[in-house]
Amino acid sequence: MERFDIIIIGAGISGLSLAHYCGRSGMKTAVLEKTGRPGGALCSHRTEGFWFELGAHTCYNSYSALIGIIEEAGIRDRMIGREKVSFKMLVDNEVKSIPSQLRFHELFASAPRIFSLKKEGRSMESYYGRIVGMGNFDRVFAPAFNAVISQDARDFPAEMLFKKRRRRKDIMKKFTFDGGLQTITDSIAAEENIRFIAGADISSVAYDGKVFSVSSANAADYESEALAVAAPAFEAARLLQGPFPDVAAKLGTIRTEAVESMGVMVRKDAVTLPPFAGLIPVKDKFFSIVSRDTVRHPTFRGFTFHFKPDVMDRDAKLRKISAVLKTPLQALEGIAEKKNFIPSLRVGHGSIVGDIDRLLQGKPLFLAGNYFDGVAMEDCVSRSLSEFQRLKKG
Ligand SMILES: Cc1cc2nc3c(=O)[nH]c(=O)nc-3n(C[C@H](O)[C@H](O)[C@H](O)COP(=O)(O)OP(=O)(O)OC[C@H]3O[C@@H](n4cnc5c(N)ncnc54)[C@H](O)[C@@H]3O)c2cc1C
Repeated sequence: MERFDIIIIGAGISGLSLAHYCGRSGMKTAVLEKTGRPGGALCSHRTEGFWFELGAHTCYNSYSALIGIIEEAGIRDRMIGREKVSFKMLVDNEVKSIPSQLRFHELFASAPRIFSLKKEGRSMESYYGRIVGMGNFDRVFAPAFNAVISQDARDFPAEMLFKKRRRRKDIMKKFTFDGGLQTITDSIAAEENIRFIAGADISSVAYDGKVFSVSSANAADYESEALAVAAPAFEAARLLQGPFPDVAAKLGTIRTEAVESMGVMVRKDAVTLPPFAGLIPVKDKFFSIVSRDTVRHPTFRGFTFHFKPDVMDRDAKLRKISAVLKTPLQALEGIAEKKNFIPSLRVGHGSIVGDIDRLLQGKPLFLAGNYFDGVAMEDCVSRSLSEFQRLKKG
């Protein structure tokens, strides 16, 4: 059986950024991924010379760790800027600007609290509700935050979203890639020293004190000296239950939400809605619509609806998309679906992370993911970098 220096389970941006660091340091690295492609929530559906995102859609010039990887992977010249189209609200199935939905007297009366109120230890509702006023929060900000993290964001810790980071002034403010964001993970998966293995749905992990043995559902076995799990927290908990029950028990306390994303492309003349980056519904069966209008195409427009889980079946979703876009069902082409997972964190989450990190100390076991530093791609990469540094310290 082939032995690797490190096996990484999960080929999202967390697993692949860790693989990038390990591979460049000369480690023989395997990345085992249950689906047929690298990327996880970086999922660019490509068809007929067109692509649209079924998950993450935007990188910022404040993502310095991610940009470092992009440069090392030699794909900086494939970056493309995003057109200046804005996010808007969907109120009673009509597109409205965000400012038109705000009550400015309430905003001006509440805003000075921004100078005294700290984000730490507060939920999104308790922090932003005070700064923008509860009326504005309920009508505009809560739906917008729900759209950002595809779940009810009220109880999410305020310090885990919209972090201040230094910007790289030599990089465009918001960007994507030729071929979509999956270009990043496609490139890393093809790097030297990284063996990307698709279709490896890992079912069990064993550790004899020296060597990890990892088995997949299709009966393939792999061995390594170090192991990293870069799958959602519930999946990491399941896999580590046998060899590391204390770590698994802590991971099991982290909640995760699913989001059912469905994307379509539509010929430009079949849809009359004005160009927009995304639409935020006030109350509906989906959290957001993200469009491809940020990278215009001569023939098609693309729209991805991020639906609440277990609420609508495929046909009902298609009917909903057709109604919102005000376009007939037959005009929807290139239909694609993806189930994504996103952690549902709570105030005090930092102490769970602290406990997990204490349990990991001195073990050749590494955990990467979007439930440590935060959910943004940059948070995933910064966690992978700190786990790589721990690995190198030995
Ligand atoms: C709809 C949506 C929009 C977003 N938009 C943005 C954005 O614009 N900008 C931004 O910065 N962030 C955005 N995010 C957040 C960010 O994209 C994610 O937090 C990040 O991509 C998660 O990466 P990950 O590698 O931790 O997890 P994932 O991408 O979920 O990857 C985990 C991988 O592990 C695999 N796996 C799971 N179990 C097993 C197993 N047993 N065996 C083998 N493989 C397994 C999965 O198949 C998957 O490929 C968005 C997220 C979502 C869901």
